[in-house]
Amino acid sequence: MKHNILLCLDLDRTLLPNGAQPESPEARRLLQGLANRPELTLVYVSGRHQALQQQAIEEYDLPLPDYAIGDVGTTIYDIEDGNWRPWDSWYEEIASDWCGKTGKDLQELFADIELLRLQEAEKQNDFKLSYYALADIEPGNLLKQMRERLDTQGIRASLIWSIDEVADTGLLDILPERATKLHAIKFLMKHKEFTHEQTVFAGDSGNDLPALTSGLQAVLVKNAHDDVRDTALRQVQAAGHGDCLYLAQGGLLGMNGNYSAGVLEGLVHYLPHTLAWLQDASTGEVQ
Ligand SMILES: [Mg+2]
Repeated sequence: MKHNILLCLDLDRTLLPNGAQPESPEARRLLQGLANRPELTLVYVSGRHQALQQQAIEEYDLPLPDYAIGDVGTTIYDIEDGNWRPWDSWYEEIASDWCGKTGKDLQELFADIELLRLQEAEKQNDFKLSYYALADIEPGNLLKQMRERLDTQGIRASLIWSIDEVADTGLLDILPERATKLHAIKFLMKHKEFTHEQTVFAGDSGNDLPALTSGLQAVLVKNAHDDVRDTALRQVQAAGHGDCLYLAQGGLLGMNGNYSAGVLEGLVHYLPHTLAWLQDASTGEVQ
């Protein structure tokens, strides 16, 4: 069992080549070959909900993962024979943060706030309450007011404000405090008995930072923005675990380090024996 690997990957602009930089043509095929190895447990870690993850898998011809962490960490699916089954233990883990209440229950707390508009039904779940707001508001007071209402109910929640620049809209997610990508990965490690040395996470952007800088063996793909790279470096150095962040450079098997090429490069950095697996796949040898 000690050779087993838990490979946890963000999707957009980490595994999916949907950014401005080019993808090395062979990179995804090599990753696909790796995913077929029995030693590898593959996990997607994404803000996307189930249907959008499935759409990405189809559109980009990705390997089907063993687990999918979705909706910004509020869901974990155990995937077997193409069936996506919500993992009950995870819901039990995060439910106590909300004292047994659901996102629908919490809507009532904020019903009178005119700045907020509920997002579509498919973007909500029992442990994710999501709103739109105008992009140009100063969210400080709004978030403070919401936090006070949650506190009076004893609800432990994260309030995550971000801007969708394409749609020019503010986005607000309310999640159980423990429903994060990082905590979901650690939960999988603990329950499926993967050690620190067996686990690798790769990401590209701001919402990956907690996992990238947590001390997990982490990989930042080369196509990441400079400011994410700078912040990640500063945070791991401050935390004293700079050796647990690998910045993909390009060069592995002639690839450019973007997207899945960066993932593979980081994997080989932490677990050098996987290079032989990639070389087998790249020459088309079958073991
Ligand atoms: Mg991403």
